[in-house]
Amino acid sequence: MSSNRRHKLTESHDETDRYTAKDAAELEKSAFDGSSIGRRTFLSVAAATGVALTVPSTVSAEVTDDAMTDLAEFAINATPDDHHVTLVIEFEDTDALNAFYDEYGQPDWDIEEDDLPPKAVTREKPTPAAHAYLTAAELAEALDRGGIEYVDFSPGANPFWKLGDAYDDRVFPKVEDARDFVSHSELDQGLHYLAEEYSDRLQVHAMGQSPGWENLYTGEDSDPKDVYVAEVTKDIQDEASFAEKDKVVFSLSIHGDEPAGRVAGTRLIEEATKGAADDFEDVLDDIVIVFVFINPDGWVVRKPQYEFETWWGGTERFRYDRGNAAVGDTNRQYPTMGWVNPGYWPAEPEDTPEVRPDDPQGRGYRDMVPDALAVVEHLRRYDNVEYLCDYHMMDLSDSMVLNLESNAPYDHSGTHNLDEVNIRIGDGMTNHWGSPEAIADDTSRASEAIHGVEGYVPERLLDYGTIYDSLSYQITGGLLGWAGQPEEFGGLGAVTVAPELVLRDGYDFKPFIERRLEMAYRISMREYAEMTAAKTNATVATDGQDTAYVGSGVLTRRSADLPYTDEGPGEGHPRATRVQHRHETVQPGPGGSASASSNRTTHSLAVQFDAHGIDEGVVRLVNPGGQTVREIDLADPLSDDQGHFYVPDPDDGDWSIEYDGDADIDVEMILLETEDEYPNPEEVLGYSQREYVVNPMQFFEDLKPFLEEGTIDGLRVHDVRIGRLMRGNSGERQYDNLVISHDDGVDDQRYIAAIEEFVEAGGDLVLTDAGVNLLGRLDVGQAAAIGADDIEYGTTDFPNLMDRDLDHPLLTDVRPIQQEIWKISQLGYTTGDDSPVWTIDTDAFTAAGGTVAGILGEDGDVGAGMLSAGDAEINVIGSVLPPANQRELHPFGMADYTLSFMGHTLICNALGFEQRRYVNGELVGTWGEFR
Ligand SMILES: [Zn+2]
Repeated sequence: MSSNRRHKLTESHDETDRYTAKDAAELEKSAFDGSSIGRRTFLSVAAATGVALTVPSTVSAEVTDDAMTDLAEFAINATPDDHHVTLVIEFEDTDALNAFYDEYGQPDWDIEEDDLPPKAVTREKPTPAAHAYLTAAELAEALDRGGIEYVDFSPGANPFWKLGDAYDDRVFPKVEDARDFVSHSELDQGLHYLAEEYSDRLQVHAMGQSPGWENLYTGEDSDPKDVYVAEVTKDIQDEASFAEKDKVVFSLSIHGDEPAGRVAGTRLIEEATKGAADDFEDVLDDIVIVFVFINPDGWVVRKPQYEFETWWGGTERFRYDRGNAAVGDTNRQYPTMGWVNPGYWPAEPEDTPEVRPDDPQGRGYRDMVPDALAVVEHLRRYDNVEYLCDYHMMDLSDSMVLNLESNAPYDHSGTHNLDEVNIRIGDGMTNHWGSPEAIADDTSRASEAIHGVEGYVPERLLDYGTIYDSLSYQITGGLLGWAGQPEEFGGLGAVTVAPELVLRDGYDFKPFIERRLEMAYRISMREYAEMTAAKTNATVATDGQDTAYVGSGVLTRRSADLPYTDEGPGEGHPRATRVQHRHETVQPGPGGSASASSNRTTHSLAVQFDAHGIDEGVVRLVNPGGQTVREIDLADPLSDDQGHFYVPDPDDGDWSIEYDGDADIDVEMILLETEDEYPNPEEVLGYSQREYVVNPMQFFEDLKPFLEEGTIDGLRVHDVRIGRLMRGNSGERQYDNLVISHDDGVDDQRYIAAIEEFVEAGGDLVLTDAGVNLLGRLDVGQAAAIGADDIEYGTTDFPNLMDRDLDHPLLTDVRPIQQEIWKISQLGYTTGDDSPVWTIDTDAFTAAGGTVAGILGEDGDVGAGMLSAGDAEINVIGSVLPPANQRELHPFGMADYTLSFMGHTLICNALGFEQRRYVNGELVGTWGEFR
């Protein structure tokens, strides 16, 4: 039966005598005259089954029986003949049950052969019952045979959850035994049952609600659903110990069509609550595991009373949805520091405006993102959230799981915890499976069934890096970015990762592959839990070296400098900021485009489109000069996550979106217009500016407590020029390393001479960012051969170090996937071309004798490399600790620095340090080597 139970029925939509729930909702009441079935019942069944139904007055019921609920009766009769309705059936005795099973049971069902769950399963006690997927004809036959007492419509994982007495064995069946994905109402009932039975281990709350789809059954404009949170620990009633314990939060399926988090999380909750999860039993003494079912709208939409028209005009049914009922992507709406895209709805529960000032429809955050507001508010109440993992899925990749590191800033310890948890998950998967070959039969079967791709076997079980490293794009407003940022900026200060797991399937529950996907995330959850319970520590061994960095006010950015803040220098007369939203449908092919006109006052252009469901064609952003400046290929398995373009400071003229596929796409273009250099977030988003004072040199202050020996001192340009790098006139150095990340003082000969004296005395110099300009002035060692003309400032979309020589000393212990040096968004930079990079002409650099670690920017110039001066090194990193960018909206503050683990390692390597990592007192790894 596996091949004929199809969940996606598109052809029936066009049949003239069949109506979807939405069509039917528009029918006159008179269409139902003379029918035994009322309009409301019709709608409910149309909605619940999600298929096109026959209008009752035109076709009389074919199967009717006192045993059938109205819902079951109508579902069976009005759905297309070949549709298999999900039913629970009670029998008067076991003979009747057995007769039914003889007809519809699949005694030879084999998970290794059959893609979908068996057609029928049965139980004998407490009442003889079956759960089955039946057509109308099949049910009619069964009723003719007699002995059926009750028939109801019953979707869900547990076949008998609607009958009561269904939980003798399990609430959420083992994946191998499940009938389907757990449904949202089944979760509600199951969680509350478990919380009552095991009240010493589990607490369940509804923390808030989703916006809610229009309910075509009840006629309600919106039908909000509860956002559930389940907390699991031992002695959970002990409030003091609960508060004190470290927490790990698992966000389950923020994208509703990526269900593996829910599949694994529901089973783990049940087993941990019952004390049956051996691999979690010990850690539950020490930690609390918090499971958040974060996107109910994206989940319940698979029940098509919430059937919706998709952007391109089709009707989507039986598929989970990525977003909630109001926004296309629920994972862009969190109140992250740094750059906020005005196309998003950042959910900050503190001082949330009723109405968003720039919204042409006068909507507010509580209309659009009440779920995210509830999540932020609820999670902020916990003390000690150490880790948060946000479980996602993707289509296909070389790696079965890709763990994305948070965009949030981390100090040395956080950076190492973030890296370590990934290593442990990879080890856990390898210990379990050995290699992807162990489940090659299942992954290739699943890829064929889901994506039509034959023979898919991932090359690796796990890889990890920043979001860009893993997926080749970047975001702002992500849950993990918010949760990772410091508590003083509204975050949780947690170590946060978003795993992406292959073989996303929003339609069919396929037990043979779900068991593998569940295991992958079960292992992930276990390693997270163990890291949360572990005592970790990371240090920096310097081999006794003392380091100075040259601080400068030119690197400082403060909210008080913005013209619209209270202390701001703007004389209190900011000019108006306004936002234009243009919605357009782009027809495919030549001539089909959407455009928006940029002028002198246009501050930024944001473009959003929802490519959901379309996997053909290329969407292009074309500038006023007619050049394609960005493009997204919808055939790319990762394109679902990339429905946006952002252009800070767009050139004047018409910008357009073109699409060469064969369906319509709807596009929203958002132009932010202001005469001011800095747009006021209050006028656009309705949030006032959070205060901050940031400076990237804070990196070194934050690193200081982790040094095993040696010191780090902050000096000023003035200190250097008066000789503080040296010990008086002894000719001996005060420091071993000097770091400069700005070109303040570059024209000061005495300053430059002091640096030269330091290097000539054997001191190692590290020049980063604008500090690279000093190379053009220094007349020492190989730097003498490099002139100011050889150094170029530019901007790029992403500060990625490319064409890397992984054997170069600057890149010791950097992995092949790692290329993003720092993460743009929380430092105020965008996915547009605005990240600053300083590079050195490659010919000049190599001619001077330098060795190249990698290139930066579009022109292929040196982005990281090493020069020498006698015994001293001069290391150069062209973009690693830039000052924050205040140009874009950033109401929630700003980070000092946003290094990736790679960027962190680059700096430590440039200084010749060794990073050391300890877990539970044991040295588990080192990064870099003493030089
Ligand atoms: Zn996702």
